[in-house]
Amino acid sequence: MAMSGLLSRRNLLHAAACGCAAAAAGVGATLAGGSGAFAATYAEKTTLTATQALDRLKAGNAAFVKGGACVPVGGPEAIARLASGQAPFAVVVACSDSRTPPEHLFDARLGELFVIRVAGNTVDDTALGSIEYGVVVLGAPLVLVLGHSECGAVAAAVSMVTEKARFPGSISTMVEPILPAVLRAQGTTGDLVANAVRENVELVLDHVGQASVLISDAVRAGKARLAGGVYDLKTGEVGFLS
Ligand SMILES: [Zn+2]
Repeated sequence: MAMSGLLSRRNLLHAAACGCAAAAAGVGATLAGGSGAFAATYAEKTTLTATQALDRLKAGNAAFVKGGACVPVGGPEAIARLASGQAPFAVVVACSDSRTPPEHLFDARLGELFVIRVAGNTVDDTALGSIEYGVVVLGAPLVLVLGHSECGAVAAAVSMVTEKARFPGSISTMVEPILPAVLRAQGTTGDLVANAVRENVELVLDHVGQASVLISDAVRAGKARLAGGVYDLKTGEVGFLS
């Protein structure tokens, strides 16, 4: 692996992780350089199709539910091997809830999932850029937006709508993107929080597909697929939305 490639990769990852303005500018320049620059720097990508990637997630979750999921890191050699690059097979947008780490729920190894987590699994511009990075630069063929039952962020959004609740600091700001899902869920029967969780996943999927030209182009070209799911805290099962 050429050192320049490693450095470039690290700089890009650093920019994606910390939002450093100078490093981010480097990402922008690389993006502006077109797909040719990507191909030169990120030659190693997963060979899985979107359908195969989704099947991997389903199989991993089945193993998790049965209690058989226990993926070892692999020790120093496996860790060092990944230092040369990553080829995740899926981008997962999940809630920050401590009970919903995608790597655990899907029995995934280091380097297999490119994860974006924020309470309520919403997607702002920063998260959208992370998704684009995972798909366009790293070559992940699948984007999964994962909500979960009894989500506190969604419940807070419900209370903002039904009780005009407000929260300190930036918590209300964090919850606000979920409000449209609550408003849509109000027109449905059943548990409002559960329905809002599902609506939120679907609205986030719509947002990703509509707000990102990079993602919509990748989907149109058959290079990426968007999928939704809801994790059940009680059973450990992920219900995939059609
Ligand atoms: Zn949550």
